[in-house]
Amino acid sequence: MEDTIQRIVIVGGGSAGWLAAGVIAAEHRVDSQGERPFELVLIESPDVPTIGVGEGTWPSMRATLQRVGLSETDFIRECDASFKQGTWFRNWRTGDGDTYSHPFTVPADFAGTNLAPHWLALTDAPPFADAVTPQTALFADCLAPKQITTPEYAFEVNYGYHLDAGKFAELLRKHCTENLGVHHIEANVARINAANNGDIRSVTTDRAGDISGDLFIDCTGSRSLLLGEHFEVPFQSQQAYLFNDTALAAQVPYTEENQPIQSCTHSTAQTAGWIWDIGLPTRRGTGHVYSSAHISDDEATAQLLAYIKGIAGDAAAASVEPRKIRFEPGHRQEFWHRNCVAIGMSSGFIEPLEASALVMIELAAGMIADQLPATREVMDIVARRYNRKFLRHWNQIIEFLKLHYVLSARDDSPYWQDNHAAASIPDKLSEQLSLWRYRSPWHQDAEAVDDLFPTPSYQYILYGMGFETLPRPTDSYGQNHHRGRAAELFQQNAARAAQLQQTLPGNRQLLDKVREFGFQKL
Ligand SMILES: Cc1cc2nc3c(=O)[nH]c(=O)nc-3n(C[C@H](O)[C@H](O)[C@H](O)COP(=O)(O)OP(=O)(O)OC[C@H]3O[C@@H](n4cnc5c(N)ncnc54)[C@H](O)[C@@H]3O)c2cc1C
Repeated sequence: MEDTIQRIVIVGGGSAGWLAAGVIAAEHRVDSQGERPFELVLIESPDVPTIGVGEGTWPSMRATLQRVGLSETDFIRECDASFKQGTWFRNWRTGDGDTYSHPFTVPADFAGTNLAPHWLALTDAPPFADAVTPQTALFADCLAPKQITTPEYAFEVNYGYHLDAGKFAELLRKHCTENLGVHHIEANVARINAANNGDIRSVTTDRAGDISGDLFIDCTGSRSLLLGEHFEVPFQSQQAYLFNDTALAAQVPYTEENQPIQSCTHSTAQTAGWIWDIGLPTRRGTGHVYSSAHISDDEATAQLLAYIKGIAGDAAAASVEPRKIRFEPGHRQEFWHRNCVAIGMSSGFIEPLEASALVMIELAAGMIADQLPATREVMDIVARRYNRKFLRHWNQIIEFLKLHYVLSARDDSPYWQDNHAAASIPDKLSEQLSLWRYRSPWHQDAEAVDDLFPTPSYQYILYGMGFETLPRPTDSYGQNHHRGRAAELFQQNAARAAQLQQTLPGNRQLLDKVREFGFQKL
C-alpha cells in the first residue's frame, strides 16, 4: 500500500520523547524473523536542555518499564530511584499542621464493598485512608512496599517511583538505541516542511539535513514546535481554575548518610501554593509551585528556604540555588492534528500536584503503539478517537486537582479565598460535590473504565480533607447489606497493617540491597 507508515519521527529527547520511543519500539519489536515495518527516528537538540524535573510517577510506570523491557533492578540502580506509595498532604485542610494521605492502594475489596459509607458511620474512626488500607501505616516509618525476595515489579502494597529525571532519560536513550533499534539523531530542528496535502512532509535540521516521515511525534517540551508553532493548534489556558504558574526547584542533601527515605511525596500547602518534597537515595528533590499573581518570587523563595531549613538545616538552606520554571497551566485544543501528535509538555501541563504528567505520557505512548494507524487514511480516525480520549483525561485532571483546593477550609490568604470563588470551580466538579453531599462516590461515578483518577482517589481526597457526606434520614449512610463484611474488612486491614509494619524493610535498607543483589527476575 502506498500510504503505509514507513517512518515515525519523534522530535525531542526528554522523558516524553524517550518513553514514546521505548513503548512504540518495544510494541513493534524487531525480531530475528525480519525487520520492523517502519523506521523509528528520534531527533534531539544537543543545545536545548530537557526540563529536568518530573520526579514522581504513578504505579503505571511499573507496567510501562516492563513493557519497554527494562529490568527493575537496572532501573533502580541507574535512575537513583526510590519507591513512591502515594502522597502525604500537610496544611491543606486548615493550615494548622493538619495531615492526610492519598495512598496508591485502593480500599480493601473496593470492587465488591464500598467502605466509605461504613467508615462514615463509625464513631471514633481512624482517618479514612488508615481505616481502609494498610499502606498508610508504612509512611511514618519510611517502609518499603516489598521485600528483596519479592520478584521485580510485584508488591505487597502498590507503588510507583521517585526518580532522577535526567538519569531516567539517559537510561531510556541507551536502551532504545542499543536494544530496540531506535535511530538517534542529535540535531536542532530548524524548519518544518509541509506536504501538498497540509501534512508535515519533513523537518530540516542544522546538522543532519532534511528528515522526512509519515507520522511525527512532537515531544519538544513547552515550545510545542510542531503542533503549536507549525500547525498553530490553539493553547487553552486553564489558569481560571488552577492558578499556579511558577515553580522553584531545588535539590537538598540528606543530613545524615543513612537518613530514612520517605515512602511518599510530601506536599505541604503554603499561602499561595505548595511545596513538594521527594526522597531519592542520594538527595531530596524539593520545590515550591505557586501562583505568581498571589505571591512575589522573593516571598515564594523565602518560603521554600524556610522549608529547606526545617528539613535539612541552615547550611543546606544557605547553599541551595532554586531554579525558576514558569509555565502556563493548560493544554492544546487537540493533540493529534493531521500526521502529528504531541506528547508531554508540548501537549500541555497543568501543575505537578498528583504527578499526572508522566502517566499521561505513558498513556499517550501506549495508545499510539497499540493503535498505530496502518495507513494515512485511517490515521484521521485514530486521531479523532485519541483527541476525544485525551481531552477527557485533561478535563479530569483539572477537576481532580481543583478538588484539593475547593475542599480546603483555608482562607488565610487571597490565594485560598480565590480558590473558593464559584467561577474558579469547573461545573462538573460542583455537580459531583453536590451529589457526594448525600452519598459517597463509588463505581457509578466513574465515567469510563480508563478514567485517569478512579473513584478510590476521590474518596481519599474527600474524606482526607474532611468532606461531609450526610447520613440518610434512616440514620445510615447506605450499603447496609454490607455492614458485616465492612466490619470484617476494617479488622483485617488493621491486622495486615500491623503485620506489614513488622515485616517490611525500610526503603533505604531495601534499595541498598537491590543495588547489591538485585531483585529476583520475573
Ligand atoms: C515544576 C515541575 C514539576 C514536575 N513534576 C512532575 C512530577 O512529579 N511527575 C510528573 O509526572 N511530571 C512532573 N512534571 C512534568 C514533567 O517534568 C514532564 O511531563 C516530563 O519531564 C516530560 O517533559 P518533555 O519530555 O515533554 O519536555 P522536555 O523535558 O522539555 O524535553 C523537550 C525535548 O525537546 C528537545 N527540543 C526542543 N526544541 C528542539 C528542536 N528545535 N530540535 C530538536 N529537539 C528539540 C529538547 O532538546 C528536549 O530533548 C513536572 C513539571 C514541572 C514544570
